[in-house]
Amino acid sequence: MNLEKLLENIKKYNSNEQEIEMIKKAYFYAERLHNGQIRQSGEEYITHPLSVAIILSEIEANTNTIVAALLHDTLEDTDVKKDDISYQFNPHVAMLVDGVTKIGKMNFSSREEEIAGNTRKLLNGITEDIRIILIKLADRLHNMRTLEFKKPDKQKENALETMEIFVPIAYYLGCYSIKSELEDLSFKYINPEMYFELAKKVKKIEETTHDDLHSMLADIHTLLTTNNIPNEVKARTKNIYGIYKRIQQGNKLNEIHDLLALKIIVDNIRNCYAALGDVHSLYTPIHGRMKDYLVQPKTNMYQSLHTTVFGKGENLVQTQIRTFEMDKIATMGLTAYWQDPEVVMNDELKNKFQFFKSLLEINQSTNDNRRFLEEI
Ligand code: MN
Repeated sequence: MNLEKLLENIKKYNSNEQEIEMIKKAYFYAERLHNGQIRQSGEEYITHPLSVAIILSEIEANTNTIVAALLHDTLEDTDVKKDDISYQFNPHVAMLVDGVTKIGKMNFSSREEEIAGNTRKLLNGITEDIRIILIKLADRLHNMRTLEFKKPDKQKENALETMEIFVPIAYYLGCYSIKSELEDLSFKYINPEMYFELAKKVKKIEETTHDDLHSMLADIHTLLTTNNIPNEVKARTKNIYGIYKRIQQGNKLNEIHDLLALKIIVDNIRNCYAALGDVHSLYTPIHGRMKDYLVQPKTNMYQSLHTTVFGKGENLVQTQIRTFEMDKIATMGLTAYWQDPEVVMNDELKNKFQFFKSLLEINQSTNDNRRFLEEI
């Protein structure tokens, strides 16, 4: 975990020398301010903001967001002031760091009324500037990754809070990678016996199905390429908590239709349907398991064609077919829309994401914080 790793990630999507210089400057600025502070893991404090920035670089966050991530704990934990950050960097960065600090002071695990009020503030903050909540999500993700160094009662408290508040937010923002990891990390502390039991079973399933899945990937890739459809194919296993939820619903492990999934990414919508035909020509689909989220996206803008087939080795395999653009949105959520340097939630985005539209409407309809949360 070092600055080089961060810069390497950034350079994959940003080649602006000046911006890269600003990121370096923010790193050394934060390192100096946190100098002498040690995390409970025994590491230098700077490893934490650096890790948060690295998580955000993986979803291609813009420069001000990365800079704010590096500085996100300086207002709270050092003598620096908002004006200093504004002067050293810019007012946008100062505003982001200030926003993250305010969320950090909110309490989500005390009295019910206070939790409701704070959660409402948090959710409304999303519509003000999406980046504040993204930094907070990345901050929470790194804290959950390093939760083993906290006391047991704190571990449970943080895990519950993450599951109840941060997981749903990651879902509604469409950041599936962050959402799945937060879920599994929380579940590990909420129900450790079940977590480790399932993790062991899943590992075994992954080992026994690996060759079959990769042979399917190769066959699909070859057929699509022969039919002139540019494509990329990948395999994935459902996350542990997702599997647990399916079992809770009464499914047996080997009956979960999307336990194993293949992602097929193609160049355009027409070819999604062509690829679907090709997959069905290779493997028999299961009746009633086809879902067309191309025509009807999920509320978080997820788009894909889903079909579950009888794959090689008697495995049930879900295939998810989408375009490169849709795949970007499925991985990065709202951040995929950050082409402009300073995109704040504009009206078009608010309308596109049904969740935000509902959020604004519900916010206007009631003053009662608990009613607000129930509605949400
Ligand atoms: Mn932090």
